Amino acid sequence: MHTIEWQKRGLPHAHILVWLQETLHVHKVDDFISTEIPNLEEDPELFNCITTQLVHGPCEVINPFSPCMKNGRCTKRYPRDFLKETQTGRDGYPLCRRRRPEDGGFSTVINVRHSEVVVDNRWIVPYCPLLKNILCPYQC
Ligand SMILES: [Zn+2]
Repeated sequence: MHTIEWQKRGLPHAHILVWLQETLHVHKVDDFISTEIPNLEEDPELFNCITTQLVHGPCEVINPFSPCMKNGRCTKRYPRDFLKETQTGRDGYPLCRRRRPEDGGFSTVINVRHSEVVVDNRWIVPYCPLLKNILCPYQC
């Protein structure tokens, strides 16, 4: 089941609900959902796609005028906390791995309002690496 929504900037995004025949163990979640910057050397196309399309904001102190900010806080709860391993949350939803650079995560530099800003996995919007050809249609 899916629904496609159009954002104010004209970018479509889909909410997809998939039922699996077998239980997805927490150690397999990372194969389907990622909240990390891809390895540039292993997959430069995915790296470029994620770092140009799926970095939230940045907001908070980096950009307090971001549209997601309300009463001085990000309404989307970014930047998220670092997490060494994916965990199952109390509500059953996974808390996805977001490794620190010193734990094997990656960071990159992006431009925000004509300034260079270092972003890490705390800013990455969840994505499915298996959908690379859909996520990055103009780069593949
Ligand atoms: Zn935000």
